[in-house]
Amino acid sequence: MTLRVGVIGGGQLARMMIAPAVELGLDLRVLAEGEGMSAQLAATAVGDYRDLDAVRDFVKDVDVVTFDHEHVPQDVLRALVADGVAVHPGPDALQYAQDKLVMRARLGELGIPQPDWAAVRDAGELQAFLDAHDGRGVVKTPRGGYDGKGVRVVRGAGEAQDWLDALADDQALLVEELVGFVRELAQQVARRPGGQIVAYPVVETVQRDGVCAEVLAPAPAASERLVRVAEGIGRAIAEGLGVTGMLAVELFETDDERILVNELAMRPHNSGHWSQDGAITGQFEQHLRAVADLPLGDASPRAPWSVMVNILGGPAEGTLDERFAAAMMEHPSAKIHTYGKAPRPGRKVGHVNVSGDDLDDAVYEARAAAAHFA
Ligand code: ADP
Repeated sequence: MTLRVGVIGGGQLARMMIAPAVELGLDLRVLAEGEGMSAQLAATAVGDYRDLDAVRDFVKDVDVVTFDHEHVPQDVLRALVADGVAVHPGPDALQYAQDKLVMRARLGELGIPQPDWAAVRDAGELQAFLDAHDGRGVVKTPRGGYDGKGVRVVRGAGEAQDWLDALADDQALLVEELVGFVRELAQQVARRPGGQIVAYPVVETVQRDGVCAEVLAPAPAASERLVRVAEGIGRAIAEGLGVTGMLAVELFETDDERILVNELAMRPHNSGHWSQDGAITGQFEQHLRAVADLPLGDASPRAPWSVMVNILGGPAEGTLDERFAAAMMEHPSAKIHTYGKAPRPGRKVGHVNVSGDDLDDAVYEARAAAAHFA
């Protein structure tokens, strides 16, 4: 019988699971938030992922449940597990991708290198942390942040007063030391329920305005030690937290070659889009293999270099379709992926992958193709 995989969330990550699901012979079903979502082609239900009845109704026709995002509430996830549903990643693992304070505490217990941090409830506690860290820090709302929303560099507790005022009695903010990183990296691994792990090469991620703009795979000029340490961190977190499916670990590299964990995602991640065209097994296929408990695929690169450039909706003239056609015409070696989303300034509407023997050539080609949308 064909294994039925249910994805909660109908964004571009669910959309990009559709083609590999077909290839693997899996029946992919999606619970979309509304009509016209990116993953509409596989949407078998529309409903609110916070509503246990809606989710229960969706999962009764699937064999395993996974996610396009990490926002499904813990009580919904735990009710599914109690019903006997296979959920990957499960709520015990997913909590560390849902709440940055819970993550910091657990990574500390596991001895994983990370920035200095504290949970702060009022201006006094925040100022005390800042005073101990050169008067500055990065304040984060523990839950619900993405693309840099919910992250603020502060030089005094007053700069986070609005967030402190909005805290409920049992809530706190996360404050971290401001890391003077030389670059940001991401390490991805996939883990199967039985424990098999496959690691991807560590990549460099370039952010603009808190949003991932480009990814270089593998990370240029990475020493053997750096590659080994990053992979070790990815494996240790996947095992330590019991992650199933794809795990992305966002990392800071410091000027003394230390690596510190920024945050985690337990699903396919923007830092791994290069692997769709640049690795033997792309991250979307790998995620499906892992959650369906199939043997994992080879994560080796197909080419010395792969470059991913995000396409953000902007003020460009003409329709998105015309721009895709023009980019495809002028850059036949570029793999252009489109999410079926209406363009809005700053919104991710697609990405370009280019692989090759020369990094500079690949960067040039991928940027030139993506520039059609600027
Ligand atoms: P989000 O959940 O919105 O992606 P992140 O925690 O990843 O937020 O932070 C977004 C960006 O802010 C990071 O990619 C990094 O550039 C910067 N940043 C986050 N934490 C720190 C830190 N402790 N020190 C320096 N920069 C940071």
